Amino acid sequence: MSSASVESVIEQKTVQPAWAGTDDPWEAFRQVEIITLELTQQYRHSLGKYSRFFIELANKQFYGTRCSNCERVYTPPRPLCPDCLHITGWTRLPGTGALMTYAVMHFASEVNDDVRRMSMPIILAYVLLDGSSTLFPHLLKADPQAVHTGMRVQVAYADAPVQHPIHLMHFVASEA
Ligand SMILES: [Zn+2]
Repeated sequence: MSSASVESVIEQKTVQPAWAGTDDPWEAFRQVEIITLELTQQYRHSLGKYSRFFIELANKQFYGTRCSNCERVYTPPRPLCPDCLHITGWTRLPGTGALMTYAVMHFASEVNDDVRRMSMPIILAYVLLDGSSTLFPHLLKADPQAVHTGMRVQVAYADAPVQHPIHLMHFVASEA
């Protein structure tokens, strides 16, 4: 189900550049209309087989999936093992890990209120979580000057409501 609405504000004016005189070939087209459009859209989206990951984040628990055949553990979770195509199962992880690589970003598109609330720069981190076979990309909230590859990090959970469930978590420097 989706709904959308468009509101417009109309402004009319005549654009007349300084050089325009009686021989202005565009004279008949100088009156312009400027409209301001506001588009709002709401839609329902199923998180499908990934739902438990977000449900557990809301419970302040971190889950990946483990392949029932090759034992590889996926974070973010994958319902199907990309290596051997077996169905995976949920496995709880401690949420600690090591920073493998990162980027300091001084600009982010303001996709939602979660991002708008962040102050720049932000750190996009790729973390190898303990017990996982894959890298997990997410925000690392830390002083960029104090960040280095190999440092220990851990999952921190949101205390306030978020607009998108991926922001129920982020990484912070490990307390241990
Ligand atoms: Zn597998």
